[in-house]
Amino acid sequence: MANIGFIGVGNMGAPMARNLLQAGHGLVVHDLNKDAVEELVRQGARDGQSARGCLPDSEVLITMLPAGEHVRVIYLEELAGHIEPSTLVVDCSTIDVASAQSVHEALGKLDIDVLDAPVSGGIMGAAAGTLAFMVGGSETAFRRARPYLDVMGANIIHTGGPGMGQAAKICNNMMLAIEMLGVCEGFALADRLGLARQTLFDVASKASSQCWALTSYCPVPGPVPGSPANSDYAPGFTAAMMLKDLRLSQGAAAECGASTRAGALATELFQAFNDAGGSERDFSGIFKMLSDA
Ligand code: NAD
Repeated sequence: MANIGFIGVGNMGAPMARNLLQAGHGLVVHDLNKDAVEELVRQGARDGQSARGCLPDSEVLITMLPAGEHVRVIYLEELAGHIEPSTLVVDCSTIDVASAQSVHEALGKLDIDVLDAPVSGGIMGAAAGTLAFMVGGSETAFRRARPYLDVMGANIIHTGGPGMGQAAKICNNMMLAIEMLGVCEGFALADRLGLARQTLFDVASKASSQCWALTSYCPVPGPVPGSPANSDYAPGFTAAMMLKDLRLSQGAAAECGASTRAGALATELFQAFNDAGGSERDFSGIFKMLSDA
């Protein structure tokens, strides 16, 4: 069993950390939110008190932070020069490719193994230990991380060199946003046509429109009991996070000259939902905006 430092124990980080604890690993955690830390301490983790406090004795350091700026601050400022070369660094946050590559470059110079390993599967996947991990970095680092990623996930895919985990994640989330909009509009149209939501679900979940946004994360209450729609769209995955990822996708598309017109429309619609006060609601709450329109 390893000693693991874990920074960022929010909606996703907390259940991921809990699974590591339950697998028998020693865990020292840090988060700016003291309540989140205390909850894990009650479950057997130690409070690191600071990012640096998560380092001593940690063979592995995992971060699960909101965005690129948080990851850069932690690795390039707060922890700069303090991480032992023997520590394996795994950043699971969803961030821009350039920020991920800057962390690889800075720590790589110190012979520290680094992986960008963003996840897919939401809070339910995090709790169940069935996340998909998209992992960028060296083969050696990937092999070292595998036992820990296996505790938190079910599909662990080495997607290439530094930054390629984030590249895969950005494409995936742009696809998810477009998919969610399609599912929401399908239910909104069914409502107007007088077709029962459960009936549409029963058909669509077995037909050609079957997808994760429908069968695991249904944006209307009822058909999938664990989805955020059943708890008035408490996140989950906030609309602000989805907008962040869509902006990452559009920034990446502009940089490499890719045409992502549906992605651009999805960005516009999620921007409108955020502007209308939806930013801290689950992203599937966009159903309300689309169905009220
Ligand atoms: P969250 O806001 O719930 O958790 C992030 C945590 O990081 C917070 O508790 C915050 O206090 C902490 N934090 C921020 N800056 C910090 C710092 N400098 N030091 C210590 N702690 C700090 O977010 P989340 O939903 O857990 O998402 C985390 C990452 O995972 C994001 O990049 C998101 O895009 C990605 N993600 C989220 C989901 C989801 O369904 N929520 C799914 C896949 C990927």
